[in-house]
Amino acid sequence: MEHTTIGQVVSWLDTTFRPELQEDYDNAGFLIGQRQTPCTGVLIALDLTPAVVDEAISLGLNLIVTHHPLIFNGLKRITSDNEAGRTVISLIQHGIAVYAAHTNLDNLPWGVNGILAEKLCLTDCHILRSTHSSVSRSSADSSPNLGEQRDSNSQQQKPSGSSPKLGEVDARSADGGVCNPDETGAGMVGKLPHPIPAEAFLLKLKETLGIPTLRTSPLERRRPAGIRTVALCGGSGAFLIPDAIAAHADIYITADLKYHDFQRPEGRIILVDAGHYETEQFAKEIFYRAISEKFSNFACRISTKQESLVQYI
Ligand SMILES: [Zn+2]
Repeated sequence: MEHTTIGQVVSWLDTTFRPELQEDYDNAGFLIGQRQTPCTGVLIALDLTPAVVDEAISLGLNLIVTHHPLIFNGLKRITSDNEAGRTVISLIQHGIAVYAAHTNLDNLPWGVNGILAEKLCLTDCHILRSTHSSVSRSSADSSPNLGEQRDSNSQQQKPSGSSPKLGEVDARSADGGVCNPDETGAGMVGKLPHPIPAEAFLLKLKETLGIPTLRTSPLERRRPAGIRTVALCGGSGAFLIPDAIAAHADIYITADLKYHDFQRPEGRIILVDAGHYETEQFAKEIFYRAISEKFSNFACRISTKQESLVQYI
C-alpha cells in the first residue's frame, strides 16, 4: 500500500501555494508536525479552532490545512493556560500536523481573490496591486491572534472545468478570469458581463457570500449607469481603497473597514464591507480542489465544525 508522508504533502503544498509570496509579517507554511509521519488525511478550515482539532481527531485525519496561521505572532509559552497553548498541546499529543497558506494565497492570481472573482462571475480580471508595487499591506492591517488578519464556505466539490488550474500557469479560459498567470499581488479587479444596478449587485453579493447583511457607503446618486467594474480583496483590504479608485472600479468589496474608511473615497466609488470570513471563505474550496485532485490515496475533507468568528444576530 502506498504511503504519502506529511513531508511529501508539505513539499507539494509549498510548490503549489508558494510560501515565498507571503508578506513579511506573515507566518505561513509548515507550522507543526513531523515530515516522516504517514499522512492519514487532510482537514481544511479557514481558522484552526479547537472544534477543528476535535474534528480532525474524530475523523482520524492528521494534517490540518488552514488559511489563517495558527501560530502568527509567535508563541512564548505553550501551556494549558490559554486556548492557543491548549490547541498546540492537543495537536502534538494527537500527532496532527498543521500547514497554512495565508498571504501567499492572497497574492496568487487564482487565490482568495481569484476565486471570489470567479464566484461573482467577473471577467477580464487583473491584480489590483501587483507584488512589484512598493507598498504592501501593513502588519497593522492584519493582526490576528492566533490567526491572521486579512484574507472565505464552500462546498466539497471537485474543481470545475472553468476553474483556475492550480499550481500551473493558469489563464482562466472562456469568460476570462486571470489574464496574466504570472502576475501576483493583492486584490483583483474585473468586469461584470453587463452593468447591474448597485442594489441588485449587492443582493447577488449577499447571496453568493451567504451573508445576511452588508455595510456599504451610500448608494444614492452614485453609479447611475450601474455596476460594471468590480474591485475586491478578501479579508482586511482597506489599504487597497486608493488602488480600487485608481482602477476606476464602480465598487470595492472587502472587509474590516472602519467607519471613516467609508469617507475616504469621497463618492468616487462604492465601498462594501462584506465580512472577513465571508470574503475569504472560498479559500477552503481552493485547498480542497487542489489537494483532492493531487492526492487520491487519503481523505480530504472541508471542516463542518468551523464557522465565522463573527456572528450576525
Ligand atoms: Zn483573513
